[in-house]
Amino acid sequence: MNRRKLIGLSGAFAANWTVGRRFARSTGGYPFTLGVASGQPSPDGFVLWTRLAVLPLAPDGLGGMSEPTSVIWEVAADEAMRNVVRTGTVEAYSRWAHSVHIEVTDLEPGRPYWYRFIALGEASPVGLARTAPMPDTKLVGMRFAFASCSNWQVGYFSAYRHMAAENPDLVIFLGDYIYEHTYANASAHKVVRKHDGSTAIDLTGYRNRYALYHTDPDLQALHTAAPCLMTWDDHEVENDYANEWSERMEIAPENFLRRRAAAYQAYYEHMPLRIRSMPQGNGLRLYDRFRFGDLVSFSVLDGRQYRTKQPCEVPPWRHGHVASESCTDRLDPERTLLGAQQERWLFDEFRRSEAAWNVIAQEQLVAHLRQRNRDGASGYWTDGWDGYPVTRQRVLDAIMATRLNNPVFIGGDIHSFWTTDLKADFANPSSATVATEFVGTSITSDPPPRETTLAVLPDNPHIRFFESRHRGYVAVDLTRDRMETRMQIISDRRDPKATVSTLKRFVVESGRAGAIFA
Ligand code: FE
Ligand code: CA
Repeated sequence: MNRRKLIGLSGAFAANWTVGRRFARSTGGYPFTLGVASGQPSPDGFVLWTRLAVLPLAPDGLGGMSEPTSVIWEVAADEAMRNVVRTGTVEAYSRWAHSVHIEVTDLEPGRPYWYRFIALGEASPVGLARTAPMPDTKLVGMRFAFASCSNWQVGYFSAYRHMAAENPDLVIFLGDYIYEHTYANASAHKVVRKHDGSTAIDLTGYRNRYALYHTDPDLQALHTAAPCLMTWDDHEVENDYANEWSERMEIAPENFLRRRAAAYQAYYEHMPLRIRSMPQGNGLRLYDRFRFGDLVSFSVLDGRQYRTKQPCEVPPWRHGHVASESCTDRLDPERTLLGAQQERWLFDEFRRSEAAWNVIAQEQLVAHLRQRNRDGASGYWTDGWDGYPVTRQRVLDAIMATRLNNPVFIGGDIHSFWTTDLKADFANPSSATVATEFVGTSITSDPPPRETTLAVLPDNPHIRFFESRHRGYVAVDLTRDRMETRMQIISDRRDPKATVSTLKRFVVESGRAGAIFA
């Protein structure tokens, strides 16, 4: 309780200071126009991130920087940065767009720390980071919040501001953190603020897209207020891409992989990722696990990089569509969403985890959703887990076989709130509920058509809740006995000062899969 209160005060202070500094200094030679961030906490440390950019949207994608530049980093035990416990200096290079990734180690477990950077004679805002408790620590509770789908063009990031005000111990980004696509017709898409350039297809384009998003004061406030975990979905690269395959069938994999490598490099340059995530060849190792005491294990998955291409494509497009039941390719056991290596790694965690709760953080809706295609025939969406049902069944089977404690899936992508029961046999509504699922709505992105979804809910009795009319995020208060989930909504994505309220609360009781309306 004391800790919560202490963090609460510091979070609000840090957030205000960030915003103030940005407006005061962003036109001069100030190098911290993109803010600061921390992430990937472990019991002895975390990653600190910033990227120097005196001109964030310089046309060459290098933020007005050229020379290698020394950056001092400081970690303090107090918010005023008086008691600095760790410090160092690194060089920021144009090869990585003057981004820095500091893996701070040898800290005390389970406590807050504050950090800042100093470069070009300027100090960055002070951010709040936090180490995880030791795995054997009896942790009584924690709060985390998760977000997805923040499309700059269609709204302001008020949801991020309200997430910061929750003072979560941890924030989880579940993908579509940027949108690569720039709308050609702004009025057709009700654009409230434009992207700075055309659709990102190369390193310069992706760098400037991330830079633009990181200039947002609400996103800066969120990063300053809490450490984060992250995975990506499709729009960090291209709509509905799959591994080496573009959504456009005529683009050869070797050409698409060049675009993907540029996007992955820009992702690394703008996220508080460990150095081991530094892109290698065409790839970037993103999936990872994080434990917070004996309370919770987070398995963060990468559902894009290793997947088989979507089944039953409709030329010239490979992207998601509702494929009718006659699409038997969908059921091919060779199809994979996670790739063999990541799947083995996940099942190994299922066997080893002794955490009271096991959160699987990933991009998309996991539950089956039987839909109708344009001809009225029953079918399934090909770009999500419904396009890879054999992988989903193996994951659920592994959860049952390992008797995993309290499995909960969290996801995004579908721009609406969902609460589902993941069933041992989805075709049999009275079969056991294996895991609980919560999907968060978008921070800003456009919702799916509501009436079409409402019409198919009777065919999907395992879907407990669906709501697409609001933008927002999900906050979770976790204790040993229960998980309390709040679906939080903002008043208006077009209002930069939008207020927040709670749409719905759910409780999951320990030992009993499936959410209860609270
Ligand atoms: Fe999205
Ligand atoms: Ca998506």
